[in-house]
Order: sequence, then structure tokens, then C-alpha cells
Amino acid sequence: MNKINTKLLILGSGPAGCTAATYAARSNLKPILIHGNQPGGQLTITTEVENYPGFANPVQGPWLMEQMIEQAKNVGCSIINDNILNIDFTKRPFSLLSEKNNLYSADSIIISTGASAKWLGLESEKKYRGFGVSACATCDAFFFKNKNVAVIGGGNTAVEEAIFLTKFAKRVYLIHRRNRLRAEKVLQERLFKNEKISVLWDSEVKSIYGEESPNLVKGLKIQSTVNNSSSELEIDGIFIAIGHEPNTSLFKGQLSLDEEGYIKTTKHVLTNIEGIYAAGDVHDKIYRQAVTAAGFGCMAAIEAEQFLESKE
Ligand code: NDP
Repeated sequence: MNKINTKLLILGSGPAGCTAATYAARSNLKPILIHGNQPGGQLTITTEVENYPGFANPVQGPWLMEQMIEQAKNVGCSIINDNILNIDFTKRPFSLLSEKNNLYSADSIIISTGASAKWLGLESEKKYRGFGVSACATCDAFFFKNKNVAVIGGGNTAVEEAIFLTKFAKRVYLIHRRNRLRAEKVLQERLFKNEKISVLWDSEVKSIYGEESPNLVKGLKIQSTVNNSSSELEIDGIFIAIGHEPNTSLFKGQLSLDEEGYIKTTKHVLTNIEGIYAAGDVHDKIYRQAVTAAGFGCMAAIEAEQFLESKE
């Protein structure tokens, strides 16, 4: 086992983790950032980002994250491609054991492990996952050239994915359980203008059917949320875009979480343990934007610096 000591360990490499890393490195804390299992976080599975400040024209999500990671490295943060499996937050320095058998010992920690896509929870969804069922249009749209696909959800992600999919698919059905979208108005306008997209309102997916051995999606059974009537829709692919849940299973029993699993923090992003901070989608269920995550990362780094200074 390889023992690694640090004043500040940052978990997760999305906008919150990278910003915390940049600030902490510039404060001479020599932080270590652990990539986690999705290096760069959720922006690496988006395409165009047009609301991150500082860019007059849209930039690509993966490019933006590469830049953030390089920026953190350039100012002195060590970035390790590793994944934490076990933690002991009962005493300081805190101990964390990783997949690569590293034992990290840290005087303070910033948790920015983000969030992951939610699934509908249907048996048939599990069966066809990877065989026509996906939660990432950016990753899988290419496989649906000239095919018919459905996107489930009514938020920004669902609308953006539906629009993106029209570059490949013949027809895109957006299936939403209500009769109004939650997505920003500018995205809604683009969606309604797009002739390749049909919106199925007040509709819920009840099951996904298809061929077996090899598994292949062929269609959906849909139920109206207004009058319970059932219908079928023939499609080749289904993209689930119904929101996210925080990546906090590692911290259960050691940190205070709310009823949805988000890490509870003070307004200074401090968790229930002195010296441990949470930043971004792992604690924020209200704003959930790249720019707010980055802001929380900055706050966490400043708080951690003050905490470490007070202990010296
Ligand atoms: P949201 O939570 O905003 O939306 C989830 C959508 O899925 C809602 O329309 C919801 O329906 C629907 N839904 C939830 N659970 C189910 C279910 N079990 N069955 C069917 N439908 C369901 O999630 P998003 O991922 O879209 O967005 C998350 C955050 O990220 C938001 O803050 C968003 O603004 C942000 N974001 C910003 C982007 C940008 O700025 N360009 C791009 C993408 C995301 P209902 O409306 O009925 O609750």
C-alpha cells in the first residue's frame, strides 16, 4: 500500500473540483485532486456550452473541462487518476483508501463528486441498457443515424438531447409526463421550431420492448397521465434524461446527507465535519450549473485554506 499525505484532498474533477484545485494551488496548499470515475464530470458528455461566462461563442463541454484540468495542473495541483473506495472521516487526518491501493491521509477534504443520471427504474430499461437504451445522447447519438428515437424528460437536458439527436436521427419524440416543459425558454423555442421533433405530452413510459438475443429495442409502451389510455410507439433508441442524483453513496453513515442523498452543508459549504467541504452538484440541488459549481469550488478552497491556517 502506498501512503500519500496531503493538506488538502479534492475528490472529483468537474467544474467544482477543478476550480477548488486552482484556487487551493494558488494558495500554496499543494492540493491533490482525485479524478474519480468520470474525469472532467458531466460536461464531458455534453456538446455545446453557451452559458459558461468568458466565451463569446459556444464552446465544447469536453474542451472546457480539458482546459479546467490543465489550468489546475499549471498552477501546481497534482492530479491523480484514481477512485476512492473507502473512507474514514472519524478522525483527522482523514483516511481514504483507493482502487489503486493508495492510502490518502488528508488534513482537509473538498468533496465535488457531482451527480449521475437517474433511470426510470423499469426492468425492461435494465434489460436493454446499452442495446438501445442510453442516458447520454452525446455518447450514443451516432448509432441512431436515420432511425427513430425517443427522449424522456422535460428539463434542459432532455430538450438539449432531443435537439442534438436531430443531427443523426430521422425523427425524435420527446416524451414528457406533464403538459409543460421545465427547460429554459430559449431551448423550448429551438425545440418547437425543429421539424424533426414531436412532443408527446402527458405521457409516461410503462415498458420498453424489443428483440432478444441479441437484445435490440423496438418500441415503447406509453400510458397517458391524463386518462390512463395506453399506446405503443415504434422506436430504435430511447434516451433517459430525467435528472440526476448526487454521487454520495461513499459518504453514507459518515457525513450528514438530506433525504435525497445530497450532502448537507452550511452556507460556507462546510459539512457536518470540521475540515470537510462539499461543492457543486453533490450538495447543490437548486442551481446545478457549471458556473455555480465552479463558484462553490472556489468558496470551498477559500474556506479550506482558512481552516488549515487556523490549525497551523
Ligand atoms: P431536471 O431535474 O431539470 O429535469 C428532469 C425532468 O425529468 C423534468 O422535466 C421531470 O419532470 C422529468 N422527470 C423526473 N423524474 C421522472 C420520471 N421518473 N419519469 C418521467 N419524467 C421524469 O434535470 P435536467 O437533467 O434536465 O437538468 C438538471 C440541471 O442541470 C438543471 O438545473 C438544468 O438547468 C441544468 N442544465 C443546464 C443546462 C444548460 O444550462 N445548458 C443543460 C443541461 C442541464 P417534471 O418536469 O414533471 O418534474
